[in-house]
Amino acid sequence: MNHLRVPQMTNPALIEALKTLVEPGKVLTDADSLNAYGKDWTKHFAPAPSAIVFPKTTEQVQAIVRWANEHKVALVPSGGRTGLSAGAVAANGEVVVAFDYMNQILAFNEYDRTVVCQAGVVTKQLQLFAEDKGLYYPVDFASSGSSQLGGNIGTNAGGIKVIRYGMTRNWVAGLKVVTGTGELLELNRDLIKNATGYDMRQLFIGAEGTLGFVVEATMRLERAPKNLTAMVLGTPDFDSIMPVLHAFQNKLDLTAFEFFSDKALAKILARGDVPPAFDTDCPFYALLEFEASTEEVAEQALATFEHCVEQGWVLDGVMSQSEQQLQNLWKLREYISETISHWTPYKNDISVTVGQVPAFLHDIDRIVEANYPDFEVVWFGHIGDGNLHLNILKPENLSKDEFFAKCAIVNKWVFETVQKYNGSISAEHGVGMTKRDYLHYSRSPAEIGYMKAIKAVFDPNGIMNPGKIFPL
Ligand SMILES: Cc1cc2nc3c(=O)[nH]c(=O)nc-3n(C[C@H](O)[C@H](O)[C@H](O)COP(=O)(O)OP(=O)(O)OC[C@H]3O[C@@H](n4cnc5c(N)ncnc54)[C@H](O)[C@@H]3O)c2cc1C
Repeated sequence: MNHLRVPQMTNPALIEALKTLVEPGKVLTDADSLNAYGKDWTKHFAPAPSAIVFPKTTEQVQAIVRWANEHKVALVPSGGRTGLSAGAVAANGEVVVAFDYMNQILAFNEYDRTVVCQAGVVTKQLQLFAEDKGLYYPVDFASSGSSQLGGNIGTNAGGIKVIRYGMTRNWVAGLKVVTGTGELLELNRDLIKNATGYDMRQLFIGAEGTLGFVVEATMRLERAPKNLTAMVLGTPDFDSIMPVLHAFQNKLDLTAFEFFSDKALAKILARGDVPPAFDTDCPFYALLEFEASTEEVAEQALATFEHCVEQGWVLDGVMSQSEQQLQNLWKLREYISETISHWTPYKNDISVTVGQVPAFLHDIDRIVEANYPDFEVVWFGHIGDGNLHLNILKPENLSKDEFFAKCAIVNKWVFETVQKYNGSISAEHGVGMTKRDYLHYSRSPAEIGYMKAIKAVFDPNGIMNPGKIFPL
């Protein structure tokens, strides 16, 4: 593969040529726009793009890619920029391609229960569209009001309902992509059954924009859940959470099983706008959700709760009795990311198989306690999927650089432990730039070799999001 030398700043004459490819006013180079569109939610890298371009059509995306190939300009696909791994960051003079104006829902097919969306459709927009049709789009997380489908597909986003509905991958019926050569591919054509060789749609899901642009996606919808009901349960220690999961999974079809620590809860309650679930202080909390579609289901949930109390796995608990209570319980979990962002957290998003979670967490906890004695550590995550979010909060007296440097030292031990358990260094946030140096802890040299070879096929000049997933 030809390695692209990313130009420090793209030549002004090239930017003028770029302007001719899109509608007037759809290329921005002012400082505010460069700063806003050059970054995502991570705070590790200073944004430094050359320009931001807003295509309105697939043909314009193709023209931009051809222009970039001709002039060897690096492109960074940008969705809602809620990413947590610097996948959409442009820190090296790249041109950012933003999908804000490709935000139309193009078609709905009630028999297939599918919706054809442009890449810039916001996740929430699709959720509301589904609701309007009496259906459900189940991929959900705290940033769904800003993230776009292109970004969700780029990261194969997970979220709070994975235990029942799986990741974004499960909901993509078909994709239209513009590859790194500018070619338009229509992948899988929305079929349920299609046994005609490689499913290239899946390659583009989770590719973080390194193979090409997603321009259109056909997303599947599902039956709307009935009477969703949540429970928040306080446990005496971490080890009690997994038997609680097991007990409830044996009796109910859970739609969510999340956890958070007392430190996470303290940050939420300090906001003052979220009521506590109950008064008993517990070191850990589980939030579970199910469809209380009949009275028997609700009774079964209560009986399971009582069983867990008798076993000593649960100290206290509450079950929502109304939509308002359901929303309030969810806020305890859903507001954590946004609330702790104030402390510039160093985030690790790690996963192992569900059965290994307790042993794995103890190993990680030992490393964290020994190495971060002065740092505040906040645990939460999608524990029903084996996915833990480890957040180290920056002390006020440390600079961002000093803090990240200290965290990077411990990363090695955290990721060695992930490797020991055959786990993943990034469960759902992607690799981007923050985890690219650690990819080898989760992928073998042979796998990485094949991944690079695949990239070279779709993006021979290396213009698509260089420096993401693999180092430059
Ligand atoms: C408060 C908060 C909570 C979160 N919770 C979760 C969670 O529970 N689960 C989870 O999975 N994530 C979570 N995230 C992370 C983030 O929201 C997801 O990764 C989301 O999918 C990113 O979408 P986006 O549109 O913001 O993408 P961006 O950040 O803009 O981009 C993400 C990646 O996709 C690429 N990309 C964007 N658009 C395209 C396109 N059209 N074609 C090809 N590539 C493209 C980018 O280049 C980048 O590599 C959370 C983030 C925040 C801020």
